[in-house]
Amino acid sequence: MTKCPVCKRQGMTRVATGDGLSVLACDACGGQWLSRKDYEAWLSAHGETLPEKAYSEVKFDIEDVHDAKVCPDCSRFLLKYRVGHGLDFYVDHCGSCGGVWLDKHEWNALKDKNLHDEIHRVFSTHWQADVRKEQMSDCLDSVYRSRFGEKDYEMARQVRSWIQASEDRDALIRFLADDDPYAV
Ligand SMILES: [Zn+2]
Ligand SMILES: [Zn+2]
Repeated sequence: MTKCPVCKRQGMTRVATGDGLSVLACDACGGQWLSRKDYEAWLSAHGETLPEKAYSEVKFDIEDVHDAKVCPDCSRFLLKYRVGHGLDFYVDHCGSCGGVWLDKHEWNALKDKNLHDEIHRVFSTHWQADVRKEQMSDCLDSVYRSRFGEKDYEMARQVRSWIQASEDRDALIRFLADDDPYAV
């Protein structure tokens, strides 16, 4: 019997998900343990990586468990990695055996965006660098949003993309920034 990293007691059982992946599932918290071997076997049967879906209509009720978690297979601490790409939760990874812990509903949320076949990439430096860029841009976005107000910010964004697409970009910027319309 293997210990659930969240409930910290025995009682995880091996089940096959609807997608044919073999996991250890905890009935009490709804979390799932994906061993590296099982995930890799599933990945190779799964075939080509599905293209990521940008938007999702569905909202998943995910509660990240922030307590330190211990790997059910090799007892090392699991490290948290933010998923990003519009998903604001973390997945836990064992750097030693490569297993992954998903809290309740996380698999479904990943699957909804076709990221369930890229979980192994979330732990790469490249993926995490993208996540940080995304966070910075979200942060700037909210700073400008509160400074300009919703309506002006939307207008400014539209004007900006119009200017960026223009062939006479510099002249447009000068014109917009100048109080005197006759100055060229
Ligand atoms: Zn549990
Ligand atoms: Zn481990």
